[in-house]
Amino acid sequence: MSLLKVVYYPDHPLTKKAQPITDFGPALQKFAEDMVETMFEFDGVGLAAPQVGVSKRFIAYCEPEGEPNCLVNPEIVEMEGREFGEEGCLSLPQLWASVPRATRVRVKAQDLDGNPLELEAEGFLARIFQHECDHLDGTVFPDRLDVFTREAVLKEWVDKREAAIQAVKAAERPDAD
Ligand code: ZN
Repeated sequence: MSLLKVVYYPDHPLTKKAQPITDFGPALQKFAEDMVETMFEFDGVGLAAPQVGVSKRFIAYCEPEGEPNCLVNPEIVEMEGREFGEEGCLSLPQLWASVPRATRVRVKAQDLDGNPLELEAEGFLARIFQHECDHLDGTVFPDRLDVFTREAVLKEWVDKREAAIQAVKAAERPDAD
């Protein structure tokens, strides 16, 4: 397994619509392992392929206390309810906001062998799915905020981006310097 390089907003391909996956070979299995390892390294609960520079429709996720899992070509086909909850993102480190999301979603996807899957999620897992699926369409969590909050949050990001990225890189190598 190897650690993948995280891309920071708004660098390419984070603002781009990702392409469907059609090849379910061993390279995809390896990519899935690397995605999970990278998600854990950065203490994330979800990671979408565009966040590691791969513009493909693929997400890894792990509920707290749960097992890691991956979805290929996930698509949210039903949404219900609305609630606010605190979100952050590995591509916008040290930035948080209270983001409105559906409370329940139904997701269609494929597994690593290309078999069709359908899952339902509520609460925190539903939030993870919405956040990660947004990445596949070039959307990040500030895009889900009302216009004034979005402007304030993006201004905060512009001000702290370089320092936040440096802090992440320093934490990756605690023995350096
Ligand atoms: Zn994210």
